[in-house]
Amino acid sequence: MVLELTSEQRAFKETAQRFAHEIVAQRAAGIDKSGEFPADVLHAAATEGLCGVTIPKAWGGLGRDYVSYALAIEAIAKASATVAVSLSVTNSLVAEVIAHAGRAPHKERWLRRLARGEAIGAFALSEPDAGTDAANQKTAATRSGDGYRIRGQKVWVANAEEAAVAIVFACTRPGLRGQGVTAFLVPMDTPGITRTARADSLGVRGLGCMDLDLDITVADDHVLGDVDQGFRLAMWALQGGRVAIAAQALGIGEAALDEALAYAKQREQFGQPIANYQAIQWMLADMATELEAARMLTLKAAAAKDRQEKSSVEASMAKLAASEAAHKAADKAMQVLASAGYRRGSVVERLFRDVRATEIYQGTSEAQRMIIAANILAHV
Ligand SMILES: Cc1cc2nc3c(=O)[nH]c(=O)nc-3n(C[C@H](O)[C@H](O)[C@H](O)COP(=O)(O)OP(=O)(O)OC[C@H]3O[C@@H](n4cnc5c(N)ncnc54)[C@H](O)[C@@H]3O)c2cc1C
Repeated sequence: MVLELTSEQRAFKETAQRFAHEIVAQRAAGIDKSGEFPADVLHAAATEGLCGVTIPKAWGGLGRDYVSYALAIEAIAKASATVAVSLSVTNSLVAEVIAHAGRAPHKERWLRRLARGEAIGAFALSEPDAGTDAANQKTAATRSGDGYRIRGQKVWVANAEEAAVAIVFACTRPGLRGQGVTAFLVPMDTPGITRTARADSLGVRGLGCMDLDLDITVADDHVLGDVDQGFRLAMWALQGGRVAIAAQALGIGEAALDEALAYAKQREQFGQPIANYQAIQWMLADMATELEAARMLTLKAAAAKDRQEKSSVEASMAKLAASEAAHKAADKAMQVLASAGYRRGSVVERLFRDVRATEIYQGTSEAQRMIIAANILAHV
């Protein structure tokens, strides 16, 4: 088993790290404080190819592999969790889905614009009554002339504040749950889309999460993939999305570890650096070990996706392990810094808030455990 990155993967990781350090890190605290959607940073990311990392070059992307993409998201998340997750929505949940299931006109209209950062993407699956039970779609798409009338509500739609296009999931065959959901590619300027509420969230502030009221009519050519097969497409998208969220969590955890290491070396109590105390060393050792273990699972899941293998269990394991390791790392960093970390505006305070969402979005930790358990139980 080869555990080495290729020279191309290493070089791309360094490019992403440089961008994260020079551009993203400078804005991270400001984005968190103001809650402002970082459109300018995303445009700058697009010039580095970070809005279409795995999208084929023919469609304006970089045509890179999933391992490279995960490395880039991790590097960006180390600087700003918000920018990383916003990029992951455009990449994994929108552009990759269009590249995978879109017809030529869909690709022609959206892929280059998404990859170049001229359009931001959103993914509208969750509803007031469809969270973990995402198949319970109440948004209804009914036949109307040569198309569909789509009516309903979507909640927590990341990027929606600035998005030019959204993949909207709606029920086309009531009562059939996941067998009767269709995905639609909807321009966000379609008449009948109302952005009703902007989420004021604990962390990843600036993600531009909006609730949407929909009463729109779209032509048949807005169907993405096959009619009634949208839930399957959403689950396909989430396989990649979960690898990206695992990578995002790793970046947050790594930032927490760096903060804790630096502080432990310089903070003195009882006449010596607190890094000399075993209680502190064990926290640092646990943080490093748990993050490294989660990194292996994340790279394994990304590599499985590169081999085009079914990778839902690998993606769930990666997301579960990385989000929980990163949560623990942020918690331990807070303990190492104590009052210096607890102060509003400290980096650790931001990481502590940002990391929590990684255990919630794109499926809670319980949802990941359900997927993993169903798989292992089916094989005994
Ligand atoms: C910052 C942020 C950004 C988001 N961005 C998007 C987005 O871009 N697009 C989108 O569509 N959605 C988005 N979401 C929504 C997100 O995907 C949902 O919040 C998530 O799927 C959980 O749904 P819920 O919040 O309704 O919780 P619920 O499903 O109501 O769950 C509540 C609790 O019950 C548990 N639970 C539920 N069912 C079971 C079960 N069968 N067994 C055991 N435990 C169970 C859950 O794990 C959780 O602990 C976002 C959410 C956040 C916080």
